[in-house]
Amino acid sequence: MKYKLYLKNVPISDVELKADVLRVQNLIAPAPLSSKKYDELGNYNSDTVARRFGKRRWNDAMITLGLKPAQVFHTEKDLFDNIAKVWLAKMAQPVRRDMDDHPASTISSGAYLRKYGRWNIALKKFIEYVESGEDIISHNYTMSASSHRTKREPSLRLKVQVLLRDGNHCKICGVKCDEGLHKLHFDHILPWSKGGETTLDNLRVLCKACNEALGNSNYPNE
Ligand SMILES: [Zn+2]
Repeated sequence: MKYKLYLKNVPISDVELKADVLRVQNLIAPAPLSSKKYDELGNYNSDTVARRFGKRRWNDAMITLGLKPAQVFHTEKDLFDNIAKVWLAKMAQPVRRDMDDHPASTISSGAYLRKYGRWNIALKKFIEYVESGEDIISHNYTMSASSHRTKREPSLRLKVQVLLRDGNHCKICGVKCDEGLHKLHFDHILPWSKGGETTLDNLRVLCKACNEALGNSNYPNE
């Protein structure tokens, strides 16, 4: 966190403000500069930049300054993967404000509202996506001598499928998974080392303690 000094009686000139925006843009190039990033790295406030150069709109200010507007395009998979990450981190169905506030989220709720209109519709589409199948696609096939059809680490979608089916209670001891020893793991029932595949049927929710007791190195919920 960086303290921003506001000197009310010393207005920043357009030239100085522009120079600072360009400085930050150079730092993060070639990525376009978002208002959030500018607030992190800039010496002034993104609102000031937006007001001065863009009639209060950040992207218009970027265009005025000859920069690429910071419109981020999210594919549907990006949007769904982000919900999955928050769902897995919370171990519960996310609410709309989690998209803005939860540390696991990297896409704001606005992106969902723009695409789906309402958060409930985004959630409904997400569940349709989760239930529509497993991610067994060509690049999941291993290149090694191993005969596995799947990758060892479950996809985000598969993890959510397992969580929706099993709930967040360990399938061996029944404890509610949260942190520490009870941290949630996704366990291969037939171990991966014995040819077990990463499929819905062969995965289950375990707490860290039970997972370690089994002696398998499985994947924590991260
Ligand atoms: Zn357990």
